[in-house]
Amino acid sequence: MLNPGYTTVSKFAIEQIPQGPNARDLAALLVDVAAVTKAISAAVGKGPLLGLSKLAGSENAQGEAQKKLDVLSDELFVRGTEWSGLVGALASEEMDHVKMVPGRGRLALVFDPLDGSSNLDVNVAVGSIFSVLEIPENATGGQAVLQPGSRQIAAGYAIYGPCTELVLTVGSGTHSFTLDREIGNYVLTRRDLRIPDSTSEYAINAANRRFWEPPVIRYIDECKAGRDGPRGRDFNTRWVASMVADVHRILMRGGVYMYPRDQKEAHREGRLRLMYEGNPMSMLVEQAGGLASTGRGRIMDVQPTALHQRVPVIIGSREEVERIETYHAEYDSGEDQPYSSPLFGDRSLFINT
Ligand code: MN
Ligand code: MN
Repeated sequence: MLNPGYTTVSKFAIEQIPQGPNARDLAALLVDVAAVTKAISAAVGKGPLLGLSKLAGSENAQGEAQKKLDVLSDELFVRGTEWSGLVGALASEEMDHVKMVPGRGRLALVFDPLDGSSNLDVNVAVGSIFSVLEIPENATGGQAVLQPGSRQIAAGYAIYGPCTELVLTVGSGTHSFTLDREIGNYVLTRRDLRIPDSTSEYAINAANRRFWEPPVIRYIDECKAGRDGPRGRDFNTRWVASMVADVHRILMRGGVYMYPRDQKEAHREGRLRLMYEGNPMSMLVEQAGGLASTGRGRIMDVQPTALHQRVPVIIGSREEVERIETYHAEYDSGEDQPYSSPLFGDRSLFINT
């Protein structure tokens, strides 16, 4: 069944990465990152057994068993990439600061080692997200990574579901590999993913409705009104509550995923993190023909000021993201004023339901 002509991550990298001073380093780094995700996949796949095996085999058993899988995944990323001399800076959700790696590495790797980790308890798909940037000349510390997403030279995620997949872009389309556990390699299984322009599926945490801004309420209420409302067709809700799983669904069959700005904690800009969630997912989605917006602009144009900065995320099928951006613009300009009045907060649509 296996064809020796299949495309592995290294073959893909050699074929797809454009010529440039860091091309070879990037190819080698992606192979290392792929190896890291295989190790995380193996650890995640053991589930509660991981704690048991550690309890049996170690002096400091109790402590190790309690060590969270996201901390272990973070260590796997660091140990699996810093040895090579390819990266000059590493940064992750688990780190307080950017970690500079001595040597000549010109690449920065920013990552969420385990996304959706609270879903592990219920055996729902989780993943790892990563972003690769070039380190500007003479940059140190935060400057090495605090660049807008449009500067990324590669981005990807691994999803640990019923099968493990690696979804990758180096700036020429978004492609999906599946881990063949028997041979221990990722094999290219879907080339050039395309997100359909239109969709009838949306994903949002509806329990936060009372905290949303009026343009988001308007959009969701119109979807919910279905064929009786202004959209003239029925929609379905999808919500895994794991960014990797929700974005993966959108890359595979379309949809729109939103974690918008809200008033739940009014001082913060959304919930998701720009550097290791918003930006890499935006690059993957844009490379697949979708859009990624804050509601008021392209996510990848946001100039980051802090490693753990948050960003509103509206991502997926082009027509829906454009519509939601229009609703934000109409609200901000006051055009949508009658609808945003508290008196009409639920909109006249509800007369129909
Ligand atoms: Mn995460
Ligand atoms: Mn995480």
